Amino acid sequence: MQKKIQTIFKEKFGKEGTLYASAGRINLIGEHTDYNGGFVFPGAIDKEIMAEIAPNGTETVRVFSIDINEYVEFGLNEEDAPSQQWARYIFGICREIIKRGGKVHGFDAVFAGNVPLGAGLSSSAALESCFAFALNDLFNGNTIDKFDLARIGQSTEHNYCGVNCGIMDQFASVFGKKDNLMRLDCRSMEFEYFPFKADGYQLVLLDSKVKHALVDSPYNKRRQSCERVAKLLGVKTLRDATMEMLNEHRSDMTAEDYFRAKYVIAEKQRVLDVCDALVKGDLETVGKKMYETHEGLSKDYEVSCVELDYLNDIAKECGVTGSRIMGGGFGGCTINLVRNNLYDKFIETAKRKFAEKYGHEPVVIPVVISDGAHKVEA
Ligand code: ADP
Ligand code: MG
Repeated sequence: MQKKIQTIFKEKFGKEGTLYASAGRINLIGEHTDYNGGFVFPGAIDKEIMAEIAPNGTETVRVFSIDINEYVEFGLNEEDAPSQQWARYIFGICREIIKRGGKVHGFDAVFAGNVPLGAGLSSSAALESCFAFALNDLFNGNTIDKFDLARIGQSTEHNYCGVNCGIMDQFASVFGKKDNLMRLDCRSMEFEYFPFKADGYQLVLLDSKVKHALVDSPYNKRRQSCERVAKLLGVKTLRDATMEMLNEHRSDMTAEDYFRAKYVIAEKQRVLDVCDALVKGDLETVGKKMYETHEGLSKDYEVSCVELDYLNDIAKECGVTGSRIMGGGFGGCTINLVRNNLYDKFIETAKRKFAEKYGHEPVVIPVVISDGAHKVEA
């Protein structure tokens, strides 16, 4: 990928630039916890976006996307927004830096990536943080704080791409560190690295390729349940609620709200338990917690679907250490923690059984926890 980018950059712009990269991410555990002030536990992966970039001395940005095979030019003023979706991510990063008082001038860029699109690995955050990191280095002497780089990516999604996302994806992509997961406290925004050296294990995603289109936004309904219960319990978010408080007030709420809150409160604790287990090198407990999360997402939070439950069942039957839905639910991937000696059998079984039932194989995406945004030595 690097060679190809360099060749094409030279061909198009007749010079050399600087190489930057940033990564997609997984989230090991901590789902639907962000908007409840809880914890998430993501890490950057070995699937990335790489760009070669050089200032061009003008106020025009010229970018070529290798994967989409498209060239776009745009100015840096608000009215210059390009219409191509992929270019809007880059335009948005430029604008958000400028809005915050940072500097951006014209540049030439060529980029490519291998983060699967729309598979729940956040290729968009990889793209955003690659450019945010690069423009911080090229035009701002790295004076923009790393958290702000993540916020610049998040605001790009909000203001230029119509996606009202949280901060986790961009955070993971910016702060990601090889062999480390990061526990982010979504209430205080403090975070901590936890070494994740899964010797003897492999992390693998199975993309069901299923996306259920849903009537009336179930996401907003989940949020509303959480907010109602928090209010009833007299806390700001469910982060501050305990299972005892919830059970004490069980008769004051609907059964549905009760189970939604029960999942969130349990999930908060599971993230902490997983971190403790990791510190002890106890990956079997990590896996057990992943299954509990799946169960909670499926039965209490009700954001699973038959295809993901089936992939989870197959994992269990094969003796896989841990497996759960990754992401918001209603389709997408499962994330699986698999002992090396079971890996081949699990993948073969999952492909075969899933295809027998649903007519197509899940897409297998092995991942390794890697560095997030960084400069690449040419
Ligand atoms: P994801 O869940 O992977 O983040 P999104 O729909 O949020 O899915 O983002 C995918 C979009 O990001 C693509 O439609 C494209 O505009 C942009 N993108 C991601 N990777 C690339 C790439 N390698 N080349 C060009 N654009 C990309
Ligand atoms: Mg995205």
